[in-house]
Amino acid sequence: MTQLNTPYPSTAYLTGFLRSRGVDAVQEDLALALALTLLSRHGLSALRECIEALPAPRRSPLVEAFGERFDDYLETIAPTLAFLQGRDATLAHRIAGRGFLPEGPRFASLDVYVDADGGDPLAWAFGALGVQDRARHLATLYLDDIADVLRDAVDPRFEFVRYAESLAQSQPSFDPLADALAAPPNLIDRTLRELTLDALARHAPTLVLVSVPFPGAVYAAFRIAQTIKAHDPAIVTALGGGFVNTELRELAEPRVFDHFDHVTLDAGERPLLALLEHLAGKRSKSRLVRTFGRIDGRVRYVDFPEPDVPFAEVGTPTWDGLPLERYLSLLDMLNPMHRLWSDGRWNKLTVAHGCYWKKCSFCDVSLDYISRYETTTAAKLADRIEAIVAETGQTGFHFVDEAAPPKALKALAAELQRRRLAISWWGNIRFEKSFTAPLCRQLADSGCIAISGGLEVASDRLLALMSKGVSVDQVARVTRAFSDAGILVHAYLMYGFPTQTVQETVDALETVRQLFAAGCIQSGFFHRFACTVHSPVGRNPEQYGVTLRPLPPGAFARNDVGFVDPAGVDHDALGIGLKKALYNYMHGVGLEEDVRSWFDAFGAPVPRTRVARHRIERALAAG
Ligand code: SF4
Repeated sequence: MTQLNTPYPSTAYLTGFLRSRGVDAVQEDLALALALTLLSRHGLSALRECIEALPAPRRSPLVEAFGERFDDYLETIAPTLAFLQGRDATLAHRIAGRGFLPEGPRFASLDVYVDADGGDPLAWAFGALGVQDRARHLATLYLDDIADVLRDAVDPRFEFVRYAESLAQSQPSFDPLADALAAPPNLIDRTLRELTLDALARHAPTLVLVSVPFPGAVYAAFRIAQTIKAHDPAIVTALGGGFVNTELRELAEPRVFDHFDHVTLDAGERPLLALLEHLAGKRSKSRLVRTFGRIDGRVRYVDFPEPDVPFAEVGTPTWDGLPLERYLSLLDMLNPMHRLWSDGRWNKLTVAHGCYWKKCSFCDVSLDYISRYETTTAAKLADRIEAIVAETGQTGFHFVDEAAPPKALKALAAELQRRRLAISWWGNIRFEKSFTAPLCRQLADSGCIAISGGLEVASDRLLALMSKGVSVDQVARVTRAFSDAGILVHAYLMYGFPTQTVQETVDALETVRQLFAAGCIQSGFFHRFACTVHSPVGRNPEQYGVTLRPLPPGAFARNDVGFVDPAGVDHDALGIGLKKALYNYMHGVGLEEDVRSWFDAFGAPVPRTRVARHRIERALAAG
């Protein structure tokens, strides 16, 4: 259960890698298949049957309203999906006219848009010409309404992109997940079961690898494994992916292995080669690599020391087997950068493995996906890009590095220009000073359309405490250079870092306001700081002035850890103001207002900002 607009890259990487080693590997995206089945005429009819089976008092007003307009939903679902899949663009006019789709409670969000002239409120958000965009946003709200009905009528844990997340996220006990897996299957479980059995019939696998990037993918992954084991216990199942790499490092729960025979950590290539050799009888169990298993009822971790497959040799990802024309281009947030995430099908590729900086104190710098920094040549990357364009026919790339290195980007841009490869690309970087104005122009010329990077707390004291290695002035100059080159800039922002004061939060918002006003950034998002056990703050809390709350005992997932900050600030209340302000800034609204005006939810007056009114302009002039 991940994004619906584009395949999650892990299966494409591993399929490409395994095939490059002669393994007969195929891939399936059951998350997409599940969503498309639930959102079909057949799926909606099955949903109505569930609703009719509910006793009347258990039907929420939302469910009742859906039932009343069921025929409208049934009539519109297939054309709307075809539109979102890019197969019927002209339907945009009817959808945008707002007489076509049944409108449920999600459409109330449209009321937040300013409608000063009594005209079309969406014109403010999309401009006069954005018929396709408006229609996509309205169609997304329509699907959200259906997801809400599924939640009310079938499973309160349901969401398309994260399903039953609380069963897995930093969940020390396996009990809630075990109970959920033992419960009678609901419509969603039954649908997933049928899709899993279909996939087994198509491929007749001997080994199934399930990748779980996020906690919201875990429940469905276990349901898939449960179906496989019930169908044929001889099929070997293995679990891996981002969730496992961060949350299951100390796995000691034997019941996980009722469903999965093996659980592997970190980059999958080497552990999978070892596992395949083991299954072929050419390697003993004691020589598996970074792999958990159950022996005599107890969980054992085996890590025979073998070097990882170098990044230069992992092969080219392949999307072969995935239904690329069936992904849905959604438009759920009116944030220019989130739009890139949810809209359009991007080929995902990494410029390097890991992060070249690996110092930020809130980041999982002790884990392989950050700490093992490896590069390859620009020529090899360009070869991969050419092969992917030839295979998919699509020229958009999302470089999914945590922080793509400037040197490698410069070399890649030169190589793309030399080969005259016309692609578009975007990705994450650090706002470091080697991104000069000429380099930003070169990146734009090579196809860069957007970049994102961490400005985090927008405070020089806290940036130093978090070892970010950038200053506010530097971020202003670098972001402006990108913007001047015509590249969209998105800033990751953070609040609630250890020892952060109310004053610093107000000052951060003033800095962000000035960055928007000066045309340095066009998009941003405020995240609440979360302490993970793998980050420097989680490992050495005393250096950051906080104490950790003890983790509850348990044998399953561990990641986030609570902490006590003597500063005692109510960051949740401040966060409401930060998010509201940012939303408005992204639409060019409220940029002249005193930042204190956004914090009315705080419950007490906040101090005046200490940031000079022209601080960012001065930083730009000094650069
Ligand atoms: S936050 Fe980003 S730049 Fe910092 S160490 Fe992590 S990946 Fe690298």
